[in-house]
Amino acid sequence: MKRRDLIKAGVMAGAAAALSAQSQSALSNQPGILTRARNLIFFVYDGMGWEDYAIAQFYSRRVLGKPLALERFLATGVSGLQNTNSLTSFVTESSAAGNAWSTGVKTVNGGLAIHADGRKLTPIFALAKQQGKAVGLVSTATITHATPASFVVSNPDRNAEEQIAEQYLEFGAEVYLGGGTRFFDPAVRRDKKDMYAAFAAKGYGVVKNPRELEASNASKLLGVFSSSHVPYEADRRFQGVDVPSLAQMTRAALPRLAAHSKGFVLQVEAARIDHANHLNDPAATLWDILAADEALEVVMNFVDQNPDTLLIIGSDHVCGAPALYGTGRSYLEGSAGVLLLANQKGTFEFMLARLGNNPSPEQVVELFRTVKGVALKPEQAQVVVDAITKRVYLPDTVRYSVQPANTLSWVMRQTDANKPDLPNIGWNSGQHTASPTVFGVYGRGVAAARIGLIDNTYNFTLMTRALGIRFQNPVMSEQEALEVLKSRAEQPWKHPEDALALV
Ligand SMILES: [Zn+2]
Repeated sequence: MKRRDLIKAGVMAGAAAALSAQSQSALSNQPGILTRARNLIFFVYDGMGWEDYAIAQFYSRRVLGKPLALERFLATGVSGLQNTNSLTSFVTESSAAGNAWSTGVKTVNGGLAIHADGRKLTPIFALAKQQGKAVGLVSTATITHATPASFVVSNPDRNAEEQIAEQYLEFGAEVYLGGGTRFFDPAVRRDKKDMYAAFAAKGYGVVKNPRELEASNASKLLGVFSSSHVPYEADRRFQGVDVPSLAQMTRAALPRLAAHSKGFVLQVEAARIDHANHLNDPAATLWDILAADEALEVVMNFVDQNPDTLLIIGSDHVCGAPALYGTGRSYLEGSAGVLLLANQKGTFEFMLARLGNNPSPEQVVELFRTVKGVALKPEQAQVVVDAITKRVYLPDTVRYSVQPANTLSWVMRQTDANKPDLPNIGWNSGQHTASPTVFGVYGRGVAAARIGLIDNTYNFTLMTRALGIRFQNPVMSEQEALEVLKSRAEQPWKHPEDALALV
């Protein structure tokens, strides 16, 4: 049976409804579960799958000598899985996934808290604000990016980030911390509006680097630390890139929000796990998960000390579908390969910026040696040069959003299946994939909850219940959405790189 036929037969809709209902009854049957929470923290691992978790878990235990806070969360909290599909696609992107969380209804890919026919939805943090809660957004993406934005504003275009910056000003959250100066800086914005001045006029402290962040006494904060997304943790940690860590931003946000008499809602997003997976960059993925873990530790400690806080964690979708595969006889060399990640002290993003538009093969070899700890052969270096200068990319398959970084990944894949010379991580794609993802709750009153498998929309139910909000956004059927999409004259991508807009 084709998927459309399943939909027509109502099988999928029925299954989704049944799952949701099942989860709800499991929760509501438990006395004391999800009692009203004064504060709510929603912690996002953007684009993280279970293999990412496995790699980070092993690396943390073996190299850093401690288990992940996420492992402690999963072991002592209440966790399960969530389905991630959007209204019309089994593979979601971040705004439709964000909408499912923030509005409780499925939407099509591409817009923020809005249906395909233009009907606006009310996102969870707007509802919380109406209750008098303080609101915070912390992200390593541009702060105007899809996942944070979908919790506070409605916009038909997730990429309208200049406009979203203006919507943030009007919304008036207490804390915005992330990347994206180009959407605030009058010298770069197309309309030349000075969004920094506009925020300052509304009482925000405006900070642009880690020292200003630490020094600020402002009760309301706009912190924008990089032109686009906040650079990867591996580059911050090993290459001296001057931006705050996710934990630092989270530590700055919490006391400001906690000072409010009616409590707060906060989204913390480890956004760049997704980007690293798009690029198939194992060190970028690993270190951004480890950075997320430090931020999760901060948040879990806060919840432990402030038990009237509910913490929800989740990943919006999987990306790239990496796999740590067994190597050697009886997989005896499987661990040795992962440990080679310790030699990787920077990301492809950092390397590509260094290489510029016209690098020599020698420059490529030198940078791979110093940043990735990899000895590249001259012919492999030439492949990288061709990717940068001629747009000849690896791998040459349709499942990739082709770009230079994927080529950098594919020239440094393991070559010896018996004795690892490089990390034994293989990638299936440079795109999002359909897998269910991690989901969990932590805080007072959740200890006896049973979760199992939920639909991602159920997060909205959990959040509204915890905050004592009764609200239902309008539901659109998949058939209605498909009709609307069909009526639009969709333009094909001019170049495959345009596909990267959808992250
Ligand atoms: Zn995402």
